[in-house]
Amino acid sequence: MDMLQTIDVGLVVLDKAYNIQVWNSFMENHSGLVPTQVKDKNLFTLFPSIDEDWFKRKAETVFLLKNRSFIAWEQKPYLMRFKNYRPITGTEAFMYQNVTISPLASADGQIGHICIIIYDVTDIASNRKALESANAELARLSRTDRLTQLFNRGFWEECLVKEFNRFQRYQHTCSLIMFDIDHFKRVNDTYGHQAGDEVIKTVSEVLRSCLRKTDIAGRYGGEEFGVILVDTDTEGAQIFAERLRAAIEALTVRYETTTIRFTISLGVSALELGIPNYKAWLERADQALYKSKHLGRNKTTLFVPE
Ligand code: GH3
Ligand code: MG
Ligand code: MG
Repeated sequence: MDMLQTIDVGLVVLDKAYNIQVWNSFMENHSGLVPTQVKDKNLFTLFPSIDEDWFKRKAETVFLLKNRSFIAWEQKPYLMRFKNYRPITGTEAFMYQNVTISPLASADGQIGHICIIIYDVTDIASNRKALESANAELARLSRTDRLTQLFNRGFWEECLVKEFNRFQRYQHTCSLIMFDIDHFKRVNDTYGHQAGDEVIKTVSEVLRSCLRKTDIAGRYGGEEFGVILVDTDTEGAQIFAERLRAAIEALTVRYETTTIRFTISLGVSALELGIPNYKAWLERADQALYKSKHLGRNKTTLFVPE
């Protein structure tokens, strides 16, 4: 009993009525309840936060089948909410626990008691969670353009391929807009590269404010952008493009002491049967964009087959 008292895991013995028979010092230290306070008390009365039905289902199989049963922290973070006291893993509010429930046979071979062993796995859990969030952040960074926080070209093009392939199967409407800032070299030459960057960032913010949840926007190149409008036909895409064009035209970007005004040219291409691959779809939007440039810029052009 002395050994069991001092080991660094929680030990609880319950009888068939779920009344507590053994409560070691780990349990005492973390719950603040001394053995005399818990002896012969019902587990669920003392700890109402334990889901009684769920725990009993686990425990009944131990009583009946004489098998051990496990509860992993990934399933349920803890059986009993104890404060996390460890200084290095202080980021967690509570102790993560792995739990084993074992049968205890009496002399006649009957299972009259079960033993709950509680392991403190807060270190493992918080390391795992830190790793998972680092991986998620890496994944986010690998698809995000640094300057604009839009999707970068690689990821955006993957989305384009996906939408193209989905269309081959389901023929949902889907449109593509490519646009490019007009006379951007002039912005750089007149106000400097940093001012140019500020313009690109502002365009991205305006673009983001125009998007719906399902729209997929990316920075395709230096000052070229692509928007995939899922479930949107040519007319819808044209309305979107014109709204964006007008919003940018009305915009003034303040950079240091100057204000910069500029426009964009856009090309729209709806997905249709007969477009052989996603590159051809992109090419159509690009052709329409260049038509906008030739027509004097600050324009939206729909792709029309020759
Ligand atoms: P057009 O109206 O025909 O589009 O004329 P333009 O001057 O905008 O020509 P173009 O689209 O070819 O200009 C691209 C310029 O954008 C060239 C490059 O120096 C500049 N650029 C590309 N990426 C960046 C960037 O990240 N920051 C800044 N400041 N400039 C960039
Ligand atoms: Mg340009
Ligand atoms: Mg360009």
